Amino acid sequence: MSGKSFLIDTSACMACRSCQVACKAWNRNDGTVTRNRGSHQNPPDFDGNTFKLVRFREVRAGNKVSRYFFSDQCRHCIDAPCKDVIDSAVTGGAIQDKATGAIVYTEKSKGAPFKDVRSECPYDIPRQREDGTIVKCTMCIDRVSNGLQPACVKACPMGGLHFGDREEILARAEKRLATLKAKYPKAQLLNVETVRTIYLVVGDPKEYHKFAVASANPGVTRKVALRRMFGPAIDALRTVARG
Ligand code: SF4
Ligand code: SF4
Repeated sequence: MSGKSFLIDTSACMACRSCQVACKAWNRNDGTVTRNRGSHQNPPDFDGNTFKLVRFREVRAGNKVSRYFFSDQCRHCIDAPCKDVIDSAVTGGAIQDKATGAIVYTEKSKGAPFKDVRSECPYDIPRQREDGTIVKCTMCIDRVSNGLQPACVKACPMGGLHFGDREEILARAEKRLATLKAKYPKAQLLNVETVRTIYLVVGDPKEYHKFAVASANPGVTRKVALRRMFGPAIDALRTVARG
C-alpha cells in the first residue's frame, strides 16, 4: 500500500504542545477560551478550532505517579467510515487524496449529519464549527502536496513525530518498537493495518486515552455498510440527475 503515514512515538513526547500550537498557527485556527481545570491538557477536548490536542493523564498507584502524553489527531483511516457517512449525505463533502491517502473534508461537509459522522469515527475525531462545517486534521495536505512536512511534525523538538512514505514509516515504527521492547515489554503499535497515523505506546493504550484504540458504533455502522454496497450506484444516479 502506498501513500503517506505518520508515526507518533509517545515515548519521546514531553507534552510541550509545540505540535498543537503549530497546528493552530498553520491552519489559522483561533485560540480556544478555557479555564484552569487543574490539568496540563488544554483545551479539554477537540473543537472546531483544535485539530491537534496533546492529551495528558496522571495515574497514581501508591507512591508511584505515571504520566501519559498522547498527541491526538485524525488517524486518516485507510477505509474511512467518516467519509462514507459524509458521502451518503453529500457528494464531495469528504475526499481521499490519491497521492497521500489523506481524508480531507470540504465546505460541503456542512450538508452531512454531524452526529453520525462523529459517532461513526472509531477515534472520536470530527468536530463542527458554528457555520455547520465539519472539521479535523487535514494531514496538512496543502503543505505536503508542496513537498513540506506537516506543521506539527516539523515543530516537534523531541523527534516524537514522523511523517513520510508509508513503507518507510512502517519500517521506522518496527525498528523503534524493537528498541523500546527491551525496556517496556508492553510497548506496541496501535491499529497499524487500518490507519495512517500510527501510535507507538509503551503501556496500556487505555491509560493514554479511551479512544487510543478503535471503538465501534454498530448502529451507524449499518449505514456505512449500506453506503459501501449501494454508494457507487447512488453517485451514478446523482450524476445522471445533474445532467
Ligand atoms: Fe494539524 Fe497538520 Fe498536524 Fe493535522 S497534520 S494535526 S492539520 S498540523
Ligand atoms: Fe475519519 Fe475518524 Fe478515521 Fe479520521 S480517524 S479518517 S475522522 S474515521
